Amino acid sequence: MAAALSRVDFPPAGPLHAELRRAVEEHLARSGRPARGGPAVAAKTAAILAWLAGSYLALLLLPVPGWAAALLALSVGLAIAGVGFNVMHDANHGTLSSRPAVNRAFAFAADLIGGSSWLWRHKHNVLHHTWPNVAGMDTDGDAGFLLRLTPQQPRRSFHRWQHLYAWVLYGVFALKWWLYDDLRELLTGRIGGHAFPRPRGGALAALLLGKAAFLGWAFVVPLLLHPTFWLVPLWLLASAAAGVTLAAVFQLAHCVAEVDHPRGREGERLPLGWAELQLATTTDFARGRRLLSWYVGGLNYQVEHHLFPGICHVRYPELAPIVERTCRAHGIPYRAQPTLRAALAANARWLRELGAGDPAPAAQAAA
Ligand SMILES: [Zn+2]
Repeated sequence: MAAALSRVDFPPAGPLHAELRRAVEEHLARSGRPARGGPAVAAKTAAILAWLAGSYLALLLLPVPGWAAALLALSVGLAIAGVGFNVMHDANHGTLSSRPAVNRAFAFAADLIGGSSWLWRHKHNVLHHTWPNVAGMDTDGDAGFLLRLTPQQPRRSFHRWQHLYAWVLYGVFALKWWLYDDLRELLTGRIGGHAFPRPRGGALAALLLGKAAFLGWAFVVPLLLHPTFWLVPLWLLASAAAGVTLAAVFQLAHCVAEVDHPRGREGERLPLGWAELQLATTTDFARGRRLLSWYVGGLNYQVEHHLFPGICHVRYPELAPIVERTCRAHGIPYRAQPTLRAALAANARWLRELGAGDPAPAAQAAA
């Protein structure tokens, strides 16, 4: 895998990266609080898992009217995304706890909410985090032929409406992830054309067990207790809530005109160093909105996450001014949309521009 993935290389790290690391390490040492885990993260993890379990059990066991069942299904979907942002994501980055065994155990949360932690680590930690937005390398920017998310993807006539129908597609993305994508990747041994080490032995057993456990709690148990057609709209509602929320956070951080969408050519070096690429392809949004930050696992501070994926998300709000100051001192643009509304508008603009034709070079050269 290492040989296949070294096709798109980086120039040697410049002074910015070293300075960012030094400034952040100094801050963490001064604060005296851990870079990973801690009581606040443990309490948050418990609260979000309880939210999911509570919504699910209430939906399953309480005799509620249809409208309440719909609200509970919505709550299950939002809680699934919450587990994804706050538990699965941090644990698979090794930042939920300072103890590796705890991270390994909670990494399995990805499997329990329908995905596969094995595939996630290769797709997200390796492909997305090493080459964010680099065409052909970051598979997150490839949502299939129905959406054109980067200028390198071919334009089709129906893309002119993609800013309108994209959200409907995000609604089925979770179902596709759970029931199709993982299976295809496992069978083909490739993620977006990139070979990855296939799980064997215990890892394969854990993956299959995780899928069975998810299909069991999400589909089989409800069907056994309530064998009715009304499960279908509830499933669709829950999976749409999860899919839209998970997709939105990726879109708002990486799929806007304000960030770069470079092409990675085989055997060539990218023009930007690793840290400069993370900064050029990523934007924060709605910084300072505490409830939003709590729910999306600090991923509205996506710049800080991309520069420091080994630090737990609860620390990102303190790191943002340090990162911004350091970038300014080095003359490197630091991107942040002021509000959620501004970020949604920027994403809609980018989808509309890509759907209408090739965006103006100025938009792409903003980085
Ligand atoms: Zn990440």
